[in-house]
Amino acid sequence: MKGLINESSSSAESRNPLAGVSFFLMRNKNLGRVIVLAAGFLIIAVFSIFNNLPDGKVHIKFYDVGQGDSIFIRTPAGHKILVDGGPDNKVLSYLGEDLPFWDRSLDLVISTHPHSDHLTGLLEVLKRYKVKKVLLGKMSHTTDQYLEFLKLIKDRGVPTDSPKKGDKISLDDDVNLKFLSPKGYSGEETDLNLSSLVFLLSFRDFEVLLTGDASKESQPYGQNLGQIDVLKVPHHGSKDALDSNFLKTLKPKLAIISVGKDNRFGHPAQNTLETLENLRVETLRTDLDGTVEIDNLGLVSDHKVSK
Ligand SMILES: [Zn+2]
Repeated sequence: MKGLINESSSSAESRNPLAGVSFFLMRNKNLGRVIVLAAGFLIIAVFSIFNNLPDGKVHIKFYDVGQGDSIFIRTPAGHKILVDGGPDNKVLSYLGEDLPFWDRSLDLVISTHPHSDHLTGLLEVLKRYKVKKVLLGKMSHTTDQYLEFLKLIKDRGVPTDSPKKGDKISLDDDVNLKFLSPKGYSGEETDLNLSSLVFLLSFRDFEVLLTGDASKESQPYGQNLGQIDVLKVPHHGSKDALDSNFLKTLKPKLAIISVGKDNRFGHPAQNTLETLENLRVETLRTDLDGTVEIDNLGLVSDHKVSK
């Protein structure tokens, strides 16, 4: 019987070369596993390379991190900017998906202000990623978490800067970050939300306003701010998030609220949603729509929403 089985196997192999391969793999289970793993690895690597190649567009992802903010920007030349890290370490999984597995570097991390719903994820990001520069405000905060954040920056030798209104960062691919708030640092700032770093990201005629938690008391942030494409609604859409006259000036085509489901603050507030609705601003929310991705060519109608 044994002989017959062997005979029929070898004759099948001679008719079909693939049958030979499978027989070989069966006999060399370990080698077979290695080959299968290597092939899988190669497929993932190739997919990862193509998926993460710079494509000439600005991509912005408003990660669904629950009650907090974390926004990942990839510029046309592939520069990577992370604005805030959210209230926990979810940002690590998102970055893991959005960056190829061999890339553990970020060109710029911007901490809009030291509250934990924006800061927490940044600590682990600093531990695990090579961060080339950190922008943060100068307002002091005394939580252990914030002190650890400062220590990590220092221990890792990451250069820092504290931009204020009027400062501008120009990247080599036509992307500019123009800072609109805070006005300056007197050392007497008490409201961390209002001291948030606010900046306008522009690429050619595409403009996105990122606002941290700087609500209407600090609006308008700057003069000469006309219509923009996308507004990150300040402070998770709280009742004081938006000055309606300021919103009229901005006339954003899309507003995004980064907010957690059933949060204890009642964000977003009804009046803020109504302000947006009255001005017919299409609004997406991370609690309802999940992570929101936009790019400079895929505004509003083409935004991709993933849960
Ligand atoms: Zn916040």
